[in-house]
Amino acid sequence: MEKQTPTRIAIHWSASNRPESCYHINVLRDGKVIHQAPPTERLPRHTKLRNTGTVAIAAIGMVDAIFEDFGKFALTNNQIEALCAEAANLVVQYNIPIDTDHIFTHCEAALTDGYGPYQGEPDLRWDFMILRPTVGIKTEKQAKLWASTTGRVLRTKIRWYAERIKERKAKDGL
Ligand SMILES: [Zn+2]
Repeated sequence: MEKQTPTRIAIHWSASNRPESCYHINVLRDGKVIHQAPPTERLPRHTKLRNTGTVAIAAIGMVDAIFEDFGKFALTNNQIEALCAEAANLVVQYNIPIDTDHIFTHCEAALTDGYGPYQGEPDLRWDFMILRPTVGIKTEKQAKLWASTTGRVLRTKIRWYAERIKERKAKDGL
């Protein structure tokens, strides 16, 4: 096992029906959380060019989902909230800044690197571009706008959970 110091968080959905070993944390559609690997273990296959120091956290589901229809295994509210709460635990434990350099969706990372959902490839890397089915995403500009908006929503939720964790710790005198 190769070690790492956690400095970043990458947010994914799996496009699968079961927990995946390429992610550190798998969050199921009912909100149940499965810790697959410790954040201090380097996993080499989740986010191109960003695997080192990054903790991968994934919502399990979105099998056969498309922009306009998330299908039978759509993201759930419980799942999104549980994912953000888990990310907040990492933020507090490893003192990870809540900004786009340190907490990003796979889609944001892909778009930064010049590939992504607007290209119409089967392997889209559009995970967490949108939180609900959406029509009319055709261009790189539209994809980037959605991705950055969704990223901001997730980071805002993570900040909220992180503040609650810190308050609780302060109250408990930890
Ligand atoms: Zn991904």
